[in-house]
Amino acid sequence: MPAAKIYYDSDADLSAVEGKHYVFLGFGNQGAAQAQNLRDSGIPNDKILIANREDHYAEDAKSKGFTVEHDFSKAAAVADVLFLLIPDQVQPRVFNTQFAPNLKESVTIVIASGYNVFYKLLNFSPKQDVVMAAPRMIGSSVRTLYVKGSGFPCFVSVEQDGTGNAHAISLAIARLIGATKTGAIASSAREETAMDLFAEQALWPTIIMAFREAFSVLKEAGCSDEALVYEMWMSREPAEIFERAADEGFIEQLKHHSPTSQFGQLSGALSLDGKSTKEWFQHILHNQACVLNGKFCKEFSKIEDDLEKEGPENPLNELYRRSEASELGQAEKRVRQRLAESAAKSS
Ligand code: NDP
Repeated sequence: MPAAKIYYDSDADLSAVEGKHYVFLGFGNQGAAQAQNLRDSGIPNDKILIANREDHYAEDAKSKGFTVEHDFSKAAAVADVLFLLIPDQVQPRVFNTQFAPNLKESVTIVIASGYNVFYKLLNFSPKQDVVMAAPRMIGSSVRTLYVKGSGFPCFVSVEQDGTGNAHAISLAIARLIGATKTGAIASSAREETAMDLFAEQALWPTIIMAFREAFSVLKEAGCSDEALVYEMWMSREPAEIFERAADEGFIEQLKHHSPTSQFGQLSGALSLDGKSTKEWFQHILHNQACVLNGKFCKEFSKIEDDLEKEGPENPLNELYRRSEASELGQAEKRVRQRLAESAAKSS
């Protein structure tokens, strides 16, 4: 694979989006941040419209000086650029029924996550542009980093080039929201979805399992719940390690640890060949969970409505119940309760 292209402000020509009207569907986490960044990049307020139901998100947009439209068909009709910034699970229903029938043929649709496009759940017309500007961080950081003038990491791509100018438009949009300041990485909905779902279904489960089993082995060896909970995560040491990894490098950060720790970590990691873990990861990506072949998406859509339910009918509640019943879950509950009781006594 060749190295990915990285785009900077100087690669993005704002004339590609001159005079366009911007509609943000959603003023939540990403919507509020990206709309404010776009305005602060020089787009006049009367060229920006927030499409939102009548509630606290709409009130927030108004309080920040934006014009809000509650009628989605009216909002769709004026959009030259539509930012799709509502949760992924509601996008197909809202976009396909309330936006798609009313959009201009030449509109550019901007997605912030690849999922619905990669699995072909959104109905675009062939002449429309579909581009991705997917920040790698939460909305509040997208905003604060923009305000600081430092930009934020982001993936960009063209998923459908209906007008023939989608590439130039995608870079101009990325620049307006502040994504090309530190470099926007060329990616794709496929790559973004694969990495996201892989992290969720393979990498983090492996880390959770490693913590769970480490807890169990150390407890068997006589360590107390209190000491373990602090040692393993409540001291925030893992968070600091990842902070330093982001700043200095995944391996380089080890040099902040004691020589004993460095020796243990490096020699221990090198002695594990990772073969079975790699096979497991490949299985998740290609076979079992079928991240790439769409089977996961089909299976997940069958239970999606159940995730709104209360009580045991919601499959997430059952997964929480089982996870909280684990040795680690029970121990942490006891330790947190004890700490809360002592804090209450001393206050
Ligand atoms: P939020 O959960 O913050 O979205 C809330 C917004 O969506 C509100 O404006 C809400 O308004 C609206 N909304 C929710 N349900 C509906 C509905 N049924 N009909 C119409 N509007 C609805 O979303 P995020 O900002 O977290 O995510 C937006 C996109 O950004 C997603 O594609 C996500 O994957 C992507 N993304 C998110 C990141 C994050 O950190 N959160 C990071 C990078 C990308 P109301 O309820 O009033 O209708």
